[in-house]
Amino acid sequence: MSGTVSIRTYGCQMNEADSEAMAGLLEGEGWAVTDDEAAADVVLLNTCCVRRHAEERVWNALFALRARAAEGGLIVGVCGCMAQWRGEEIVRRAPHVRVVCGTRAFARLPDLIRRAAAGGAVVDVGEGGLPAGPLPRTRRGALKALVPVMRGCGNFCAYCVVPYVRGPEESRPPGEIAAAVEALARDGCREVTLLGQNVNGYAAAGVPFAGLLRIVGGTGIARIRFLTSHPKDLSDGLIRAIAEVPQVCEHLHLPLQAGSDRVLERMRRGCAYGRYRALVVRIRAAVPGIAISTDLMAGFPGETADDFERTLGAMEELRFDAAFLFKYSDREGTTAAAMGPKVPPAEIAERHARMLDLQSRIGLERNRERIGGTEEVLVEGPSARDPRRLFGRSRTNRRVVFEGDGALIGTLACATIRDATPLTLIGAPRAA
Ligand code: SAH
Ligand code: SF4
Repeated sequence: MSGTVSIRTYGCQMNEADSEAMAGLLEGEGWAVTDDEAAADVVLLNTCCVRRHAEERVWNALFALRARAAEGGLIVGVCGCMAQWRGEEIVRRAPHVRVVCGTRAFARLPDLIRRAAAGGAVVDVGEGGLPAGPLPRTRRGALKALVPVMRGCGNFCAYCVVPYVRGPEESRPPGEIAAAVEALARDGCREVTLLGQNVNGYAAAGVPFAGLLRIVGGTGIARIRFLTSHPKDLSDGLIRAIAEVPQVCEHLHLPLQAGSDRVLERMRRGCAYGRYRALVVRIRAAVPGIAISTDLMAGFPGETADDFERTLGAMEELRFDAAFLFKYSDREGTTAAAMGPKVPPAEIAERHARMLDLQSRIGLERNRERIGGTEEVLVEGPSARDPRRLFGRSRTNRRVVFEGDGALIGTLACATIRDATPLTLIGAPRAA
């Protein structure tokens, strides 16, 4: 069977990587993958359900496709986390959906579409492990690639649905990862991001994550990033690897979630604030100039005004280079969903707004500290806002916009920073 498929991706980079793998699989079976959703024979939504808002967006998108599906011919599919979580319920609420493909059923996706085309709806939220070999993949950009190194999560933080929808932790063998990165580097790729829900828990063939970074450092790739690190498992060995492997960029995403120990304990994070702060001090001493970003949430059940002040206090004290700030929302079946008292939505919104304001100020201050310095930028292309300028990311993962020759696209260039906004550095180029 063949035709055209479009894939819309919601949520995190793991989902983006899964969408690329899905595209690769389908192309291997003769499908043409297109960005033109309006003309596609099959529309797949690769979904997220980590927060209520993420799920609502998917439901709205699904209902918006109902009229087109009713005209006949179109196959609508729901893949990924929300598919795994809601299963049959999706087809009950949205009967025009013909394929529901959970996170562990990706390898069966082409077959599910074939069966749905023959009539009816097909739901597969069954088991399936990592595929034996590297999945065929279609990458959107040639310069940067996402490389999943592990799947699943066994931490069961009280608020989080990920362990339920992604299953237990599984690591890919280091040889397979190194071969994939080597092939990418030969293909002109300059930067890989190694992905896992908790890469610090990586362990395969006796190799811990620090060892994996050293192995990937020898593949010929110019830059290495990785996501996400859990503070409870961040070892000194990993800090040394970040400091010593030249390809590893000076950026660490280290979610804190909250500044109050009482809340952190109720979240079951396994890392009190004092220990987190000590880690940040050690990392900054070992890797000068490293950027540390984080995730924080407002309104976890039982969070008092005093608890929340501690989150603001932590932001002031640690001065994160970037922070993803979330409003807590209940996810059915998690421990936190059954906890009280709930913080009223208006209060959550107010706390969230205060975090946004504070981070915007700190982000600007952090970026201003870079003015006058030089940043190595992987030049991705023209800036979307001003096509006369170039856009790329610094080693510390900052967005950089600068004036320069189009010939620099695809290279590592140096830019001298002359101005800054909360999210962007503005620079003039210098010879690399
Ligand atoms: N594996 C990553 C996080 C995955 S989810 C880690 O452990 O850091 C990404 C972020 O979403 C989390 O860090 C958390 O801040 C947020 N999040 C998860 N569940 C949430 C919920 N129920 N409500 C609000 N934010 C949530
Ligand atoms: Fe969710 Fe915690 Fe696992 Fe991250 S470590 S995916 S927050 S359960």
